[in-house]
Amino acid sequence: MLTLFVTKSAEIWYNYNMITKLGCYPERQLNLVTKNIDGVMVTLQEPAMNALINAADRCTVRIAIISSYRSCEEQKKLYDAYAACVAKYGHVYKCGLSAPPGNSYHNIGLAIDISNYESRKIRRALLNNGWKWGASFGDKPHFTYQP
Ligand SMILES: [Zn+2]
Repeated sequence: MLTLFVTKSAEIWYNYNMITKLGCYPERQLNLVTKNIDGVMVTLQEPAMNALINAADRCTVRIAIISSYRSCEEQKKLYDAYAACVAKYGHVYKCGLSAPPGNSYHNIGLAIDISNYESRKIRRALLNNGWKWGASFGDKPHFTYQP
C-alpha cells in the first residue's frame, strides 16, 4: 500500500507501508532494499532491514545470514526439491522445511535464516527488534519480522 503525503511546504514524499500478507507480489510493490551485510547481500522490506541493522548493532558477534528475500520463482525451486526429497525418503525429517511459493515470509521480504541461531545474544538482539524465532514451528534458523 502506498500513501502519499503532502506537507505544508508542498514537499512530497512517499511512505511505503509494509506488506504483511503472504502471497506472491511483483518486487516493485514490496519496497525491498538490498544491503551488503558482512559480505552477504541481504534483501528485505525496508522496516525489516532497519530492524535487522539495529539488532546487528547490538551484537558483538555478527549475525550469519544464509537467506533473506526469495522470489516465488526461487521458492518454487526449493519447494519442488523438498517435495522430491519427501517423496524419496517418505518423511519430512531429512528434507529440511520448505513452504510452497507464496506461503513463506521470505517471499515478501520479512524473513531471514541465520546459521548462528544457537547464540543467545543474537537471538535476544533479534527478538528485541521485532523478529520472531521459528523454533516454535521447528525451523530454528528462521526469523520472521513481526513487530
Ligand atoms: Zn526461513
